[in-house]
Amino acid sequence: MKQQYISYQQTIDFLKQAMGEHPHLIRLQTIGETWEGRPIIMVTMSLDVAYADEKPALLYTGTIHAREWIGIELSIAFIKHVIDNYKVDPKLLDTLSRNTLYMVPCLNPDGFEYSRNHFSFWRKNRRDNGDGTFGVDLNRNFGVRFKQSNDTSVNTYGGPAPFSEPETRAIKDFVERHPNITIALDYHSQGNVFFPAHKFNHEAEVEGTDLNVLCANMAREIERVTGRRYGIHRGKPPTNLIHGSGREYYYSQGIIGTVVEVGTRNIPDYLINMSQSVDENIPAVLYALKSATNYSKHAPKRVENFTVENIGSNEVTLSWDAETAPDLYFEIYRAERGKSPCVDENLVAITRTQSYTDVQLKSGHRYFYNIRAVDRVRKVKSPWAPEVQLKTLLAKDEFSHTAFPMKAQVGYVGERTLKRNAEHFGHNSLFVGVNRNKGCCFGVIMFQFGSLPIDVLLRKASLALYPMDRVNAKIERYGEWSISILDEAEITDITSYDQIANAQALQTLGNAIESDKLTQGIWSSWNFTEIERGILSQQFASGRVILRIEGPTSLPQGHDSQMMQFDIGYGRFGGGIHYRPSLQLIYTKQPKTMEFSPAALSTIAQAGVKHEQLQSGFDAQGDKVYGSLAFSLAGLPKPDETVITTAYVKLSAQNKLNTNKDIRFTMELAELEDLDYQSVRSRDQIEFVGYEVSNTQLKENSSHDFVFDSYCRNQLEQCHSDNRDVFLLLRPTTPSQEKNALIDWFAQGDNKQAKLVIEYIERRKQPLPPPTDFKAEIENGKVKLSWTSPSHQDLVGCYVVRNRFHPPRSPFDGVKLYGGKDGYTYDSFGNANIPKYYSVFSYDDVPNYSQPASMMFSVDEVIHIEEDVIETQEEEEERLQREDEVPEPVNNN
Ligand SMILES: [Zn+2]
Repeated sequence: MKQQYISYQQTIDFLKQAMGEHPHLIRLQTIGETWEGRPIIMVTMSLDVAYADEKPALLYTGTIHAREWIGIELSIAFIKHVIDNYKVDPKLLDTLSRNTLYMVPCLNPDGFEYSRNHFSFWRKNRRDNGDGTFGVDLNRNFGVRFKQSNDTSVNTYGGPAPFSEPETRAIKDFVERHPNITIALDYHSQGNVFFPAHKFNHEAEVEGTDLNVLCANMAREIERVTGRRYGIHRGKPPTNLIHGSGREYYYSQGIIGTVVEVGTRNIPDYLINMSQSVDENIPAVLYALKSATNYSKHAPKRVENFTVENIGSNEVTLSWDAETAPDLYFEIYRAERGKSPCVDENLVAITRTQSYTDVQLKSGHRYFYNIRAVDRVRKVKSPWAPEVQLKTLLAKDEFSHTAFPMKAQVGYVGERTLKRNAEHFGHNSLFVGVNRNKGCCFGVIMFQFGSLPIDVLLRKASLALYPMDRVNAKIERYGEWSISILDEAEITDITSYDQIANAQALQTLGNAIESDKLTQGIWSSWNFTEIERGILSQQFASGRVILRIEGPTSLPQGHDSQMMQFDIGYGRFGGGIHYRPSLQLIYTKQPKTMEFSPAALSTIAQAGVKHEQLQSGFDAQGDKVYGSLAFSLAGLPKPDETVITTAYVKLSAQNKLNTNKDIRFTMELAELEDLDYQSVRSRDQIEFVGYEVSNTQLKENSSHDFVFDSYCRNQLEQCHSDNRDVFLLLRPTTPSQEKNALIDWFAQGDNKQAKLVIEYIERRKQPLPPPTDFKAEIENGKVKLSWTSPSHQDLVGCYVVRNRFHPPRSPFDGVKLYGGKDGYTYDSFGNANIPKYYSVFSYDDVPNYSQPASMMFSVDEVIHIEEDVIETQEEEEERLQREDEVPEPVNNN
């Protein structure tokens, strides 16, 4: 298969020929020479290429790691694509006239040729280290956070000094001479994931949204070709930081930079896997090239102070500040998960104003909003404002509950890690799948539900897991990851491999996630269907639910690993509470029913008013006769905790009319000045209750329910709240003239009596007061936040969230730091030196979140931030494995 790939010399020959045939499009230059004397070739493409350096540019670097052949293969395929299409594809032509591509197909030619001809999985360049070893990892040799090391033999040896290598010096010199570069893509394998650049300051950066959207939109292009989903790994505090990498160097030069990790193997099957990887990435690179201009000096300014003004259960209002110019408008994009693309399908508004109300949203649902300014005339777009995240309010009758496992209730059990399985809990990531060392592995999560009411009616349930690493899922399109509900009664020890592996699944969730859709760095969620929610609900009775996360359990010939790694949010490999697995429930309760007899009944006719009667229709003169009913709601619980879910008035006709004429009876909410005919004629109609009933219908069924819609139910709640009676009017209508047609609706003491039936649940409607005395101080290098919770019997806790850019107005707009009863917490993952905002919200058992108490935080002194340089999880695992001396499995590969 290796012979199917292009050599470095063939690459140069192809490029020379291409330049000869398209001299206005392609320019070649040598930007340096390797240790072994090979030229490092830079291709410049633009229309006209003579003006290339004056346009905003994308920098592409490939195969800096010798064995990662995708870089050079993709670049040649990309150039061929451009040559074949730029004359016919107007978008491509436009992209190339406005932007420039600088492309180094192979930044490590010596290592690449060594990998082609001798050692397939060679990674470094070919420097003679002088001690019998060769090679420097070029992607550890850049100047940002360069790490000095004398261990020349390791694969990630960064060299004797920053930029000690001719390859890294060549690209550095080029970048420094080309300030028109705005975006850099560094192509690697493997993982099907983007690794955007970091500033390693443990905080979100203002370009963070730009990086996420660039990657998400490239990922969208990829998905359009092959259906494969790339992850985006950014936004999580880096625990083991990378040293001296190219992308961080580019980022330090003001360039939006990302690594693209392609495929699941370094040198895959050319016809199948590599051709997919190449084909899917061509439109992605084109997208990045087209975007170069949006980060140039021609681009409008980034929108500022993008925030949410108001959050309802079905709509939200966003606002922002921006320069106003006649040619500027704003694009707003809405997504339902983080790190989503911003494309036509989710563009919800184009506006010139500085606020926008988004409507028809789902209640209790998370939304992510992005905004940018667009120059209409020059067709240049601004960078992105920091994303706004929120959750809409619950519907009036809804509650939500987010369950997290305790430390000892989340871990993985491995077939060959038997002695260690108990220690994995609360410590290691969830390893799910199979590999040679660990054998078959299952994730286990137990949730306890002591606080849930018994009469829960689940409307929605979903499990969320954060895939933190998929590098060990090494097989393209193999296996799927799913969640099973286990019979908790069968399990006495959740850390026992045998018990977990052999437990009968009561149900496996329908939406298993395939390997090429498990996206590292983007939350995965499994939604429960109605049947699955039913089974979940049955488990509530025992107070606990045990879930098994399962992946593939066997490996095909020639493969050693198909393993996903999910964060547990605990232990030193975890990302903290924000990344903890969770089971999110939205539910309502079984309503209670209350029947009300009328407090007063009247018949109001031209001739006069009769009490303790209820008639309506037409009198002897053909004048309308009205029935009037009043109900007192005094028996209902407290108004601020009563949500009426259903209400209807039941009336029964005691007689039948002889006529077949169309007479209809309507129920109205109406308040009369006085109980007399004049007041009826001049009444204020509030609203109709349900639909009318006709004479004909009453002959078939003498009973009729007038059903209150949501507007009328609100009116009922208002009456209850104001301690007023509910007044209803029964009105007859007919298109003809009628006389002597009266229905008597009055009955006493039996089930034919008029009554108002109300179904309701008890639920707090309003949030509690916000916490007070919100303070921050530095303690042991960390920000300690404290507050005073409102003293109220319904208080459940307080919720703290951090946002680098604006004061969070939704508890979901930022990084969650704390939720619970304490009056303080520490910001353990943030960087105290960077100014930021914190908000704290109180919440009740619904939960309704209070208005926030917010603060901006900054310090004058410099706080020392501890950086742990510790062994990685894999290193620890391997060490423990060796210590355990688990006998090697029979090698059948
Ligand atoms: Zn690499």
